[in-house]
Amino acid sequence: MLYHSTREPNKEERLCSFLNVLLKGLASDGGLYVPTSYSSMYIEERLWRYFSYQELASRLYRWFISDVPYSIIRKLVRTVYNERFPLSYYNNHSGSCPVGYVVATNDNVPIYMLRLSNGSSLSFKDIAMQLLCGFFETILGSSSVNIISATSGDTGSSVCTAFQFCKRSRLFVYSPLKSISEYQAEQMYSHLSINAFNICFNGKFDCCQDIVKRLLCKNRSNNGTANSINWVRLLFQTTYYFSSYFRVTIASKEYVTFLIPSGNFGNAFAGFISKTMGLPIRRIIIATNENNVLEEFFKAGTYQVRKASSLLSTNTPSMDISKASNLERLLLELLNRNSNILFKVFQQIQYFGLVRLLNYISYRSIKRLGISAESTTGSERHMIVQYIYKRCGLLIDTHSANGAKAILLLKHSNPIRDVKIILETAQALKLKDSLQDMIGSNYSFLTQRRVRRLRVMFPCVTHVKQVMLLRTVLLGC
Ligand SMILES: *Cc1c(COP(=O)(O)O)cnc(C)c1O
Repeated sequence: MLYHSTREPNKEERLCSFLNVLLKGLASDGGLYVPTSYSSMYIEERLWRYFSYQELASRLYRWFISDVPYSIIRKLVRTVYNERFPLSYYNNHSGSCPVGYVVATNDNVPIYMLRLSNGSSLSFKDIAMQLLCGFFETILGSSSVNIISATSGDTGSSVCTAFQFCKRSRLFVYSPLKSISEYQAEQMYSHLSINAFNICFNGKFDCCQDIVKRLLCKNRSNNGTANSINWVRLLFQTTYYFSSYFRVTIASKEYVTFLIPSGNFGNAFAGFISKTMGLPIRRIIIATNENNVLEEFFKAGTYQVRKASSLLSTNTPSMDISKASNLERLLLELLNRNSNILFKVFQQIQYFGLVRLLNYISYRSIKRLGISAESTTGSERHMIVQYIYKRCGLLIDTHSANGAKAILLLKHSNPIRDVKIILETAQALKLKDSLQDMIGSNYSFLTQRRVRRLRVMFPCVTHVKQVMLLRTVLLGC
């Protein structure tokens, strides 16, 4: 399998391999890498149903990785998930994806909460991130890399934990100073790994993401990224869908619906890839908050980027995003892989902050994707957290509560009788500041306050580069 940039008109001439995509993260024209096709694969259900997470992962990734021998892919997956970060962490049943709780039922059809966030940094990103580090380590050899990542709270800790022993990496994490929860700040800014360096901006997540993109785009030094703009992380997240599908279904070709809290549209896109590859997913329901860029996209066919000043700060900070980067990958599919039109669309977004997609594509083609979106308000999330806490004694975080709202809607307006799976995205503990009000203050959370290491800066690329260089010299590798 080869890859090209979403913005590359001469696709056949500018193809690159998986390892290049892994290392570069973003194409030099500012576009995202996509494989030349997501063609559906033969899923031998009877067999796959009994595969461990590791086995499923190796078979899925093999399809997209042609420049690493299959034996090495398998070995890496096993080392990471059996020894370094054993999946038995996630539940007692070693070697499979934690399906977790039934949080509600819809006409006696269960609604599951996929508990992905019991990992080392308590984020759903961990499982994929740990393997990402494994791949970087394997190919780096004696060279070194800067892993630069923007975070709205969770990616930072996930990267620091996964890459803490990767001696050849220097981790630069950019975060918005005032938009993350107290627990997330403690976790990230007090991280002990020597190779991690936190840079904070007085802005929103989008400003951090812009800096990452600008650094990667003019990539003369060896910068890579662990954000979901890196295709490899999305690929590694497809296993969440395959693995949970086989755990909750009994018969072959049984359809399921996924509910996915979404910010940068990364995890949801991994769901879309899984669907395209042939996993029987009827519908992907994206859950967003008051900053409902994605809801407008799927309901009205418009993509309107918010100005930093009109972006609301909510109790779901990981979704306070005005530009959902991975939509670019979906747009390319919607435009039948026509990069010239995609380029025009992005020019319009740049100049006007708004594009009406229905000028280029029909509404039916958006519908045909099988993706829809719903948003929630703060008080709705409040109600849902309380409902699930009272009903099953399970405290979910506010992001995952967004996913659960979509269920309540389904119950009334759209009685799809599939099994449904909500993807949990973080542990409640991380959002304790907002949750304590919801369930009563006698629920006790612990947060220690330790020494924090961070540097607050003005978001200017030249300045950021200087600081990174200085830090590299100091680290001496
Ligand atoms: C990262 C994150 C999201 C958004 O995921 P995307 O892949 O960017 O859509 C949602 N919730 C939480 C808690 C997260 O950490």
